[in-house]
Amino acid sequence: MDWIDLRSDTVTRPGPAMREAMMQADVGDDVYGEDPTVNALQQRLADELGFQAGLFVPSGTQSNLLALMAHCQRGDEYIVGMDAHTYKYEGGGAAVLGSIQPQPIPQAADGTLPLDVVERAIKPDDAHFARTRLLCLENTWHGRALPLDYLVAARALCDGHGLSLHLDGARLYNAAVAQGVAARTIAAHFDSVSVCLSKGLGAPVGSVLLGTAKLIDEARRLRKMAGGGMRQAGILAAAGLYALDHHVARLADDHARAARLASALADLAGLQVLGQHSNMVFIDVPPSRLQALKTHMDTAQVRLSIGYTPTVRMVLHLDVDDAGVQRTIDALQAFFRS
Ligand SMILES: *Cc1c(COP(=O)(O)O)cnc(C)c1O
Repeated sequence: MDWIDLRSDTVTRPGPAMREAMMQADVGDDVYGEDPTVNALQQRLADELGFQAGLFVPSGTQSNLLALMAHCQRGDEYIVGMDAHTYKYEGGGAAVLGSIQPQPIPQAADGTLPLDVVERAIKPDDAHFARTRLLCLENTWHGRALPLDYLVAARALCDGHGLSLHLDGARLYNAAVAQGVAARTIAAHFDSVSVCLSKGLGAPVGSVLLGTAKLIDEARRLRKMAGGGMRQAGILAAAGLYALDHHVARLADDHARAARLASALADLAGLQVLGQHSNMVFIDVPPSRLQALKTHMDTAQVRLSIGYTPTVRMVLHLDVDDAGVQRTIDALQAFFRS
């Protein structure tokens, strides 16, 4: 029996068709700008999302770091959510490597940063303060797609204060599919967007940063400095192109399976379903039962990430089919009914 792994949508393995595309990739030295497949991936996403240029990078963490460093100079500041990936889960890279000061503010329950709070956090032009340069949003946030009218308002606020606007769009395509809009409709509000190919899209490696030609030129310098200049990276970019061709529309299946999982658990005593958003389901389990739950689910060969809090996140992806969802439901029902 195969394991069902619901820890994250990063755990997908490339299937035979994606591996075949990687095998067939035309390659060159991308540090010389000569890898045709990397160039095709960058151009394709730039065109699709409405930007001048794109840059293929090894990870979403590096993509966000390069964006922050390209937008901000030493001593500048970016406004960011207190639980945002770029602030909390990237090793403090913007501060450590970019000397960029974060100004974290609490996210609202829907993942938005309340714009009145953002506005109050923008520093006046005064020698006491860091220079506020950038607002950074995340979409989806814990599976939630940011409301489209919020993006319009955030853009207007940034324009009014001369700030740039960056999107950590690790799961941009989940947001677009969940909202039934083109990804470009979301991306249009931002000066730069980072997209992960290795989350729900199912590629083994890589993210792409999109922006103006000038911003991407700067990011390319920074990528070399950060050690992210790869050579015959077309083998990886081919997986990204394959994913964009074949794995976007099917994100709706992950969302439907997440909804099915959440509704099957809704009436179960002993756990609380906190919510389901795009490909994620969140449940609360009494802390005293977490270890037993982990043991039980391991026996059923369903891998969950049981961490520091009562909240357990389950993430649907390419490698979990309907039978996998059913096995998960059966195992959880057996545990909580016993
Ligand atoms: C996964 C993720 C990233 C980037 O992660 P890497 O593991 O570095 O590719 C950035 N932001 C969010 C919201 C993510 O979920």
